[in-house]
Amino acid sequence: MPKGIPQRSCLACRETKDKGSLLRFVLAPDLTVVPDLLQKLPGRGVYTCMKLSCLTRAAQKKQFSRGFKGEVLGAEAQNLTRQITEKLEERIASYLSLANKAGKIVSGSDQVLEKLKKGGIGLLFIATDISADIGEKFRSVAKLKDVRCMTMFTKEHLGGLIGKELRSVVAVVDSGFVGSLGLEMEKYRNFFEEERE
Ligand SMILES: [Zn+2]
Repeated sequence: MPKGIPQRSCLACRETKDKGSLLRFVLAPDLTVVPDLLQKLPGRGVYTCMKLSCLTRAAQKKQFSRGFKGEVLGAEAQNLTRQITEKLEERIASYLSLANKAGKIVSGSDQVLEKLKKGGIGLLFIATDISADIGEKFRSVAKLKDVRCMTMFTKEHLGGLIGKELRSVVAVVDSGFVGSLGLEMEKYRNFFEEERE
């Protein structure tokens, strides 16, 4: 392992990993456990793997109070999972709206499909509430064209992020946003790994 990269261990599985690849939690003054996705909040942190399974195990086994050496609040698995999901989604949403402001978004089924076939799409977002066969159609074309796609947000939410009405699909064209959004997507996927695949 490279020297100088801080290592921390997971409250649940005890594996030691690069600090940056783990989920950090700090304790607020009122003793509430707060997920610190950007790893910037002050105070001593405790860590779990960036995985729902480790987070759940740590919460169920009361590892947060052990880690913080005292009583803690809000450390239920469901509560922490909801907060982390929201924060991960917020980051993806804000990148999407930035990409939109930069003119790097194509939306609407016909336009996206055409551009997807022609080439030049880097990432594809498919709304959670579109019909199964349309979703499948987009997924198979994306796979054929080697474009990563993610089923996330409702049509209303997806449209809202780019200042539009309902949108079934939103695509990010090849640009710097594809890299940053791709990383956030991977994080989200890894976190839910066991449940999603
Ligand atoms: Zn772990």
